[in-house]
Amino acid sequence: MSVTDLLAPPPLSDASWDVVVVGCGYAGAVAAIAAHDAGARVVVVEKQAAPGGISICSAGGVRIAFDAKLALEYLEATNGDTTPRAVLKTLAEGMTTLPAYIEDLAVASRARVGLRKAPGNYPLPGGDAFGFVTIDEAPGFDPGIEYPHVKGSPAGARLFKVVHDNLMRRGIPVRTRWAARRLLRDAAGKVCGIDAGAGDSLEARAVVLACGGFEGSPELQRQFWPEKPVLSAAFRGNTGDGIRMAQSVGASLWHMWHYHGSYGFRHPDASYPFGIRTKRLPDWVPGGTERSDVRMPWILLDRGGRRFMNEYEPYLQDTGHRPLARFAPESQDFPRLPAWFVADEVGRKLYPFGRPTYNEPGLELDWSDDNLAEVEAGILKKAKDVEELARGLSLPVERVERTLSRWNRSCEDAVDAELGRPGSSMMAIRTAPFYYAPMWPIVSNTQGGPVHDECQRVLDAYGEPIPGLYAAGELGSVFGHLYLSGGNLAECFVGGRIAGREAAQTV
Ligand SMILES: Cc1cc2nc3c(=O)[nH]c(=O)nc-3n(C[C@H](O)[C@H](O)[C@H](O)COP(=O)(O)OP(=O)(O)OC[C@H]3O[C@@H](n4cnc5c(N)ncnc54)[C@H](O)[C@@H]3O)c2cc1C
Repeated sequence: MSVTDLLAPPPLSDASWDVVVVGCGYAGAVAAIAAHDAGARVVVVEKQAAPGGISICSAGGVRIAFDAKLALEYLEATNGDTTPRAVLKTLAEGMTTLPAYIEDLAVASRARVGLRKAPGNYPLPGGDAFGFVTIDEAPGFDPGIEYPHVKGSPAGARLFKVVHDNLMRRGIPVRTRWAARRLLRDAAGKVCGIDAGAGDSLEARAVVLACGGFEGSPELQRQFWPEKPVLSAAFRGNTGDGIRMAQSVGASLWHMWHYHGSYGFRHPDASYPFGIRTKRLPDWVPGGTERSDVRMPWILLDRGGRRFMNEYEPYLQDTGHRPLARFAPESQDFPRLPAWFVADEVGRKLYPFGRPTYNEPGLELDWSDDNLAEVEAGILKKAKDVEELARGLSLPVERVERTLSRWNRSCEDAVDAELGRPGSSMMAIRTAPFYYAPMWPIVSNTQGGPVHDECQRVLDAYGEPIPGLYAAGELGSVFGHLYLSGGNLAECFVGGRIAGREAAQTV
């Protein structure tokens, strides 16, 4: 039994609630805190055995803005007309309040907050308005002990610890292993609670859906994304339940095509439930100064043996999957699914190629510093020479030789004339043995879900608010074109606060 189970006064269905929050990641926790602080009796339900969601394995970087007007300019440019200005304005303004808000929350854990300036990912107007807030230290907190089922960045776990402590401090009950299935509505059509089936339901004046996206639903992914399969990077609990519940009361959907992802490895042991993203290299801003210390030892080839993408896109962990999605009508298939990762012996020694992340009890996977354990495990294959490499890739040897020598020539000039990879990242691939692996699209988190307005009210197909229903977090994210790193967490905190406050005022 978890600490949070102990806090829940059973049975919750007997109590009367003002607000029910569905999902206990950052967004749900923040919504519950805000609703509680606005005077509401609030309960959180969480499907999994422990709270945390994707949030707990995130990198913990929350985007903030130093100037709301400039931030809005950037958000508008990066959203490609997919989100109303009023919604983006609210996010931009909310981002300026986050440093102080997170400082306040941090008190519960005696945590130290860090603040830094960092431009937007792309050279768009307003890009200089931004920074990050992080939890840099939480005394006495060891993520490995408190959250042993999580592998991610300690900063993400520290941030979750802070919101978790705030829930506990306020005595907000979190009922784990409680999966909301349906929304309840009263005779007037207002949302008035949730139902878990088997006669278990909770009534309330308002419901906040903060139950994440559909990283864990291959079925929804198949309907909305052309490329398949797409492997989830970290978490199985988000299966689009909030999308279905919102749809069932008439919600409109947006941004369903858009996911934050990249390319990565698939474990040959089919019981390993996640894809493994490649090592996170620093993002770079096109047109900015190139960093000379970032090297990438691999290239990607399509199934015809040709490079097809800049393997080091400016914000690779967000857009890296997109080039893999090309469908070829000529051959009626996806020639880049899987793509081939190819590196050599020099590259193998440089750094770990992959980095597992997960929130999953009972799972244990590390990645070795020299990549040899992964060769042993079959995640990477080894070829003693180019002939063997070509056989492994099922390609004619001449094709592989041509691609490698072309690549190696461009490395000499440090110019990727064809695909625009930053010159300083380029490394020749010529020292046997060679290493290769199939590369798949990986979803870190989805952006699609119910449309909401600036008050986080869920809107129906005609743009009208659905009474009693709010959404927060990545469930219906505002990002519908180009993502801003740290933006999902910003939305969890800004949108979560608004949803909680608004829900508390619902009559
Ligand atoms: C490895 C990784 C690193 C990342 N790093 C960053 C970062 O540094 N900055 C950033 O901005 N973004 C980052 N992201 C994205 C970000 O973590 C997520 O978008 C964000 O945490 C989502 O928060 P959430 O509260 O909306 O959802 P979640 O944290 O996923 O919480 C949703 C919760 O709802 C529960 N749930 C689902 N269905 C039900 C149901 N029917 N009933 C009850 N409960 C339910 C789930 O179990 C889950 O606990 C990262 C993502 C990954 C995978």
